[in-house]
Amino acid sequence: MSAAASELKAVDFIDDRRIEETLAAARPEPARVREILAKSLAKQRLDPTETAALLRIEDPALWQEVFVTARKLKNDVYGNRIVLFAPLYVGDKCINNCAYCGFKCSNRDVVRKTLTDDELRSELVALEGQGHKRLILVWGEHPDYSAEEMARVVRIAYATKAGKGAIRRVNINAAPLDVDGYRVMKAAGIGTFQVFQESYHHETYASVHPANTRKGNYLWRLTSHDRAMEAGVDDVGIGALFGLYDWRFEVMGLLAHTIHLEERFGVGPHTISFPRVNVASNVELDRSHFVSDEDFKKVIAVLRLAVPYTGLILTARETPQMRREGLELGVSQIDAGSRLELGSYQECREGECQELNREQFELHDTRPLDAVVGELIRDGYIPSWCTSCYRLGRTGEHFMEFSIPGFIKRYCTPNALTTLAEYLTDYASEETKHDGFGLIERELALIGDEKKRDAVRERIARIRTTNERDLCF
Ligand code: SAM
Ligand code: SF4
Repeated sequence: MSAAASELKAVDFIDDRRIEETLAAARPEPARVREILAKSLAKQRLDPTETAALLRIEDPALWQEVFVTARKLKNDVYGNRIVLFAPLYVGDKCINNCAYCGFKCSNRDVVRKTLTDDELRSELVALEGQGHKRLILVWGEHPDYSAEEMARVVRIAYATKAGKGAIRRVNINAAPLDVDGYRVMKAAGIGTFQVFQESYHHETYASVHPANTRKGNYLWRLTSHDRAMEAGVDDVGIGALFGLYDWRFEVMGLLAHTIHLEERFGVGPHTISFPRVNVASNVELDRSHFVSDEDFKKVIAVLRLAVPYTGLILTARETPQMRREGLELGVSQIDAGSRLELGSYQECREGECQELNREQFELHDTRPLDAVVGELIRDGYIPSWCTSCYRLGRTGEHFMEFSIPGFIKRYCTPNALTTLAEYLTDYASEETKHDGFGLIERELALIGDEKKRDAVRERIARIRTTNERDLCF
C-alpha cells in the first residue's frame, strides 16, 4: 500500500480531553485500588479507568502497596532474566528542530556526522568485542537516511563478524517511515522498530516540534506503528519522553496507544520506553513537568501493572541506582556499556568520555558492560542476550512466552543461561566469570525437568570447551 493510501486511514486515537476527564474522575479508594492490583496480578491488562485510579493515588502507604505488587508481578511474569543491548548511533544529521534534542537542526555546536562503512564496521567490531549481541541503531531524520540506506546498514551489521562474536538482533530507532519503507526494513531482517511519540498531549507536542518540520506532524508519527505493522514489522516499540508534560497523562497516552494496536492488530507493542529528558547541547527546557525520582518510580510501577506482558526498557539516561530500582519494579531490558558519541565505541574506554557536542544527550550510567553484567549477576538476575524467538520466526508473538504454558522454562531461561555462558566464556572479567558460573549452577539446580537440565548443562559444557556458539533452544 502506498504512503498516501495508508495515511488516508490514519486516525488520531488520542483524545486529550477524554484522558484528562478519565484522570479527573478517577477515585483511588483503597478497596478499589486493591481490586485493580488483583487484576494485574491475574496478568490482565488494565483499562484506562483502572490505570487512572492508580495514577491518582495520593496516600504514600497505598503507593507502597502498588510498588510491592509491581515487584511481585515483575517476578511472576519475567522471573529474573534481564535482556541487554547497546545503542549504536549511525548518523546525527537532522532536519527537525525538537526543542529537547542536541541533534536539533538549529544546534550549530553539534558535530554532524554519519559513520562511513569502515567506521561502522569498526564500531561493530568494538561492540562485538565487548560481548554485545543485540543492537539498536539510531539515526536523526534526514534525506540521507532513507529506508534503503538504513537497510543497507542493517545488512552490514549482521554481516560483520569479530572473533566468536556476531550481532544477532538489530533494532532501529529512527524517524517514522511509510509502509513501503517499513517493508524495506523488514526485508533487511530488523527486530523492533521504535518510534517514540515524545508527548501524547497535542498542545505540548506542537510546542516542542515546530509545525514547519517533518516531526511537527503529530498524526504521521502517532500512526507510524500502524504502518510498520501493515508492512509486516511485527515488533514495534512505543515511547514517551517524560518531562515535557504531565507524567500521568503520558502514561495514559502510552496505554491508549497499546490498546489501539491490540485492537487493530491483535497484538500490542513489543516494548515501551519512557526516557526522561536529560541535559543536551544547547537545550534549555521549561522544567515545570520534569519528573522527580519518586514520581518516576510510580511511572514504572503503573506501566508494569497496566501492561503485564509488554517489555519495559530503561536506558543509561538513568543513574545506576535508578536502574536497580527500575529493574525491581518492572523493567525487563536495559542497555549497558553505552556510548552516544558517533564513532566512540572504538575510541574510548571505561566511561571516560562524554562530549556533549557529539551526542544527543547526556548519560548517567557510563559503566562498561562487564560492570553492569557483574552487578546484575550479584543481584541475582540472569543477564540474557537471547534472540531465539525472533530468529526462529517467533516475532510479534512475544506474548507466546507468557501464554504457552511452560514456554519460559523450556526456552527463555535455558537460552538466557546459554547466552550468559557465552558471554562469560568469551568476554567476561575473572570476577564476573566466577560469579556468573556460580549463578548458572544455582539456576541449573532450579530446572525441575531433569532431561531439560541435562540438555542445558550439555550445551553450556560445549560452549566452554569448543568454539560452538549460538546453541539456542
Ligand atoms: N530522530 C529519530 C526520532 O526523532 O524519532 C530518532 C530518535 S532519537 C535519536 C531517540 C529518542 O531520544 C527520541 O525519540 C527522544 O525520545 C529521545 N531524546 C531526545 N532528546 C533527548 C534528551 N535531551 N534527553 C533524553 N532523551 C532524549
Ligand atoms: Fe532530530 Fe530525532 Fe533529535 Fe528530533 S529527536 S532533533 S528528530 S534526532
